[in-house]
Amino acid sequence: MEYFSAPPDNSGRRVVYTERRGDVGYTYYDDGIVKITHYRRRRKVYWGRIAIAVVVLILLIMGLVQVIKIFTGGSKKDSSDSDKQFVFESSSAAEADTTVSTADEDVSKTSAASAESSEEEPNAKKMGFKVCIDPGHGDYDTGVLTGEGLTESSKNLEFAKLVQEQLEAEGVEVLMTRTEDVNVPITKRCSMANEAGCDFFVSLHRNGTSDPFDGSCGTEIFINNASPEMDKKLATNILDALDQVGITRSLGVSAGFSGKPESNYQINTDTLMPSCQLELGYLTSDDDNALYESMKQDYAIAVTEALVKTAKELGVIDENGGRLITEPLISEGKSHITVSLDGEVGMV
Ligand SMILES: [Zn+2]
Repeated sequence: MEYFSAPPDNSGRRVVYTERRGDVGYTYYDDGIVKITHYRRRRKVYWGRIAIAVVVLILLIMGLVQVIKIFTGGSKKDSSDSDKQFVFESSSAAEADTTVSTADEDVSKTSAASAESSEEEPNAKKMGFKVCIDPGHGDYDTGVLTGEGLTESSKNLEFAKLVQEQLEAEGVEVLMTRTEDVNVPITKRCSMANEAGCDFFVSLHRNGTSDPFDGSCGTEIFINNASPEMDKKLATNILDALDQVGITRSLGVSAGFSGKPESNYQINTDTLMPSCQLELGYLTSDDDNALYESMKQDYAIAVTEALVKTAKELGVIDENGGRLITEPLISEGKSHITVSLDGEVGMV
């Protein structure tokens, strides 16, 4: 017999005693009445089974999400992140239920196969050639220095970084000879490109004149004075592309050193690959400067497109950017007559 609190009673009878037998409660009153109360058996809750069911449900939903992703072609990064989460959930499920983990493995295999196939589809562009971008001058060697304190070295670096950004966005590998306001010897710049096996070398400069009122303006590109075909094509393509964007005037592709055609800029003699030195307008010309400031991004795109075009025309890459040659591109027949320094005529 067990005693427990009797149900409330408003009739005024007194409870003699109560007892419970199984699910039935008996309340004995002093007037002889016995009240019988049926108690519901408390149901046992199977928390373990519920937990397993919840895990199975979560896994099924995740599996469904994976399958949907496979069919809708979710991004590679997203799917790999989800895969990691999925494997984590799967291992905890394996402890709970072997049937679930078997089903889960199948889904994992499917998503792994999907990750492999998405690797075959290039998410980022890839161009099979390498370019050395050389921002001229640096540090104490400012190049052209205008009366307003503009330095060619800083403008060259600014433009070089824009070109680098565009090339890399197109999937072209870029080697920069400098990325800060430092002085790198020209011999070193050339050896960097040679050792890295670059296919093209483009040195970026701005021109200048000692008399800012002489009206000098325009864009010119210098190549080795032996006029190697590859270098000529590279320079012509770059100049044409810039001309299409808009420059004050084209001064053409010139062989040799400015004012000294029998000599060369060192970058055009010490490099193995097709090379050129771009003089992108005069830093001493307000017109060139205004155009540069408003068009520099388009100029960078133009240089990039010209490099891709040249790489295709010279058989370095195919139409899709796939590399066709095994060795770095070599420009044959460069003259090695050079001037001692990267001197520029008309520096102020
Ligand atoms: Zn320069």
